[in-house]
Amino acid sequence: MTIDRSTPALGALFQELILEHYRKPRNRGVIPDADATVHMKNPTCGDEIHLGIKLNDDGRIADVKFLGEGCSISQASASMMTGLLIGKTPSEAEELGARFAAMMHGDEAAAKDRALGDTRVLAGVAKFPVRVKCALLGWDAVQEALQKARA
Ligand code: ZN
Repeated sequence: MTIDRSTPALGALFQELILEHYRKPRNRGVIPDADATVHMKNPTCGDEIHLGIKLNDDGRIADVKFLGEGCSISQASASMMTGLLIGKTPSEAEELGARFAAMMHGDEAAAKDRALGDTRVLAGVAKFPVRVKCALLGWDAVQEALQKARA
């Protein structure tokens, strides 16, 4: 079945996808030989993320794993993000992060960008400025981890 994700009537489905990632986060855990680990907090909501990243010999992202607690948006966003970033180069990951941040600030073109995959279900969060930090937490953590890994 093809789903047109721009159809507003599918709002309930988006909600379902967020809850599904929250209940069963992808890539949850710790990478024992991570190239960099980062701990980040969002004090306004109480969200926390411990994130690890592992790069391949060719510089691509071999693995991203996280442990965390907090609201469904922060955890679901991090879960969706990990699936999107594995296999990407750090510069592709940074580009996607910038695109996601643009979507969180109401950029409608970014919200339709297929490169953002399932993370586009979070486009509606842009209407709730307080929750934008929740959605960005995992992305902020991964950008910092990438900088550390390359340092
Ligand atoms: Zn939150």
